[in-house]
Amino acid sequence: LYNMLQELRGNIRVFCRIRPLNLESISSMEHIGNDGSVMVCDPSKPQSTRKIFQFNQVFGPTASQDEVYKETQPLIRSVMDGYNVCIFAYGQTGSGKTHTMCGPSGGLPKDFGINYLALNDLFDISTSREDVKYDIRVQMVEIYNEQVRDLLGDDTSSTKYPCTSYMTSSNNGLLNLPDAKICPVQSPSDVINLMQLGEKHRACGSTVMNHRSSRSHSILTVHVNGKDVSGNVSHSSLHLVDLAGSERVDRSEATGDRLKEAQHINKSLSCLGDVINALAQKNSHIPYRNSKLTQLLQSSLGGNAKTLMFAHISPEAESYSETLGTLKFAQRASTV
Ligand code: ADP
Ligand code: MG
Repeated sequence: LYNMLQELRGNIRVFCRIRPLNLESISSMEHIGNDGSVMVCDPSKPQSTRKIFQFNQVFGPTASQDEVYKETQPLIRSVMDGYNVCIFAYGQTGSGKTHTMCGPSGGLPKDFGINYLALNDLFDISTSREDVKYDIRVQMVEIYNEQVRDLLGDDTSSTKYPCTSYMTSSNNGLLNLPDAKICPVQSPSDVINLMQLGEKHRACGSTVMNHRSSRSHSILTVHVNGKDVSGNVSHSSLHLVDLAGSERVDRSEATGDRLKEAQHINKSLSCLGDVINALAQKNSHIPYRNSKLTQLLQSSLGGNAKTLMFAHISPEAESYSETLGTLKFAQRASTV
């Protein structure tokens, strides 16, 4: 029934999440309708017309991690039925992407985000089903300046873990990233340990961790293999993606490495938008090949795969133009 409901609603969903206002800041006046709409108003021109955006679901500043997960759960569960699923967190730096995916401070034991709750759920289903035997494994990589880096590899002394070859077009049970280490997991604590290892590796390749983590895309991939009593096998994957910050970088200020980063991020996010938009429009040509991110996720975007984009918003007045950019990007991706 879950899958039937999902099908009826289409394979691309967009949720909007607005994080709590920072102390002593002025809000950019978002209003949330109970029908999935968000209304914004330019704080510098309060008389100007309000803009309304429509999504599948909107979570306000008081929405808990569990409330958000509850709406995500049907999608996660469909992975156990053989569907490929991609979940993206989009938004400017500081808007709550990592909070949604990992939870505060990278998923320490409280207020867990989707990554952990999803795996926990998959383990629950896996142990409760006696007709199918499941095997769950994870990979974790980051994409920085169009280079893929394995975050779970053994060689922690090296700063780079290049993945030179990967499959892009087929999903015959093949890994998209055969060179990235794949780790079997049996329990939620295995997952927490791996996520922490991945974060540690992520930090050691960069001089300024916070800067780097907001400038790269991180992808946690969960591979689920199922085998039923009559020997039928299935393979599906769940990609949990914390995207690089979508904020525009001032060309007059950014130079050298910063400018290069900004250009790579800009390009890959717009490629992702193009792919999702082409899928939403049911175009015959889907431009997967224009970025590493879309190449890597190709087998899990389109076809029977299900996609969910979280559009994250910072409610402060000074974030208004980025907020508008995020809402427009998300609206374009949506089929609502
Ligand atoms: P991003 O990953 O988009 O840069 P973060 O997830 O790091 O943003 O969030 C920025 C800050 O706001 C963090 O301190 C985070 O804990 C806090 N935050 C984000 N979303 C929420 C939320 N929904 N509720 C409470 N705090 C949040
Ligand atoms: Mg982050």
